[in-house]
Amino acid sequence: MQALSERLDAVVAGKEFAGFDALSFSSLKTVVPGPHEFVGHAVERVTRRGKYLIFEVGDVGRMLLHLSQAGRVDIEDPPKRTKPRGAVLRVRFAPDDGGSTPALLVREFGTERKAAWWLLPPGDDGPLAGLGPEPDSEEFAALVREGDDKRRIHTWLRDQRTLAGVGRGYSDDILWRAKLSPYATLGSIDAAQRDALLHAVHSVLADGLELERARTGGLSENKLGEHFEVHGRWGSPCPRCGTTLERISYESHEVTYCPACQTGGKTLADRRRSRLLK
Ligand SMILES: [Zn+2]
Repeated sequence: MQALSERLDAVVAGKEFAGFDALSFSSLKTVVPGPHEFVGHAVERVTRRGKYLIFEVGDVGRMLLHLSQAGRVDIEDPPKRTKPRGAVLRVRFAPDDGGSTPALLVREFGTERKAAWWLLPPGDDGPLAGLGPEPDSEEFAALVREGDDKRRIHTWLRDQRTLAGVGRGYSDDILWRAKLSPYATLGSIDAAQRDALLHAVHSVLADGLELERARTGGLSENKLGEHFEVHGRWGSPCPRCGTTLERISYESHEVTYCPACQTGGKTLADRRRSRLLK
């Protein structure tokens, strides 16, 4: 999401909103201020907090955009009038000095309809208010060093109130880099493992950002798969030790791990696997 915010900033910073075409029912989560209050005002910059893209519009307020799991943003220049399948929102901009009038088309693939946008007045944090610290903050480092959360670290990392912006793919890779079991909890690991966890969070996210910055093409967040180290790669060799990666399912998703690096050689019990064995 960081790389996407940087690309959008390069395209629309300094440009004035010309209009908002809401293409899907109820994707706009706020009523006041209305879209007309943003028209004619320029985007100062595009930033990110957690998984939210933030369009900062000075005294007028902020526009937030959340793409959910399968949303993407396309840049249209010149803008179109069509309403493609899965269309959520088209944001139009006024012509700049160079005569360019780009529009941003937000679309959502698949069957879920969760992508959403907010128009917030100054001082209103809206959905940002409940977000946990950013991964590179001292506040998060202190949580890792001192926390005793009872949930599995994998679950804890994905809780946006704990840490803003980490999805399950990165959680798999973070545990693998830190050599921690998918079942580990903060309370169950020692100081060295906590350091390894913090380092893994930083390095996995930094590497992901570097790859995303280098990537060109569509502005989607749902094609990250190709650069995960272990997420989704069960059945193939561990990049570190060559052992075949395993998976377990819990909370309705799959977690990939290396039994040699992360669980002391043990294959974790899996409800689905147990069912198959019966
Ligand atoms: Zn391994």
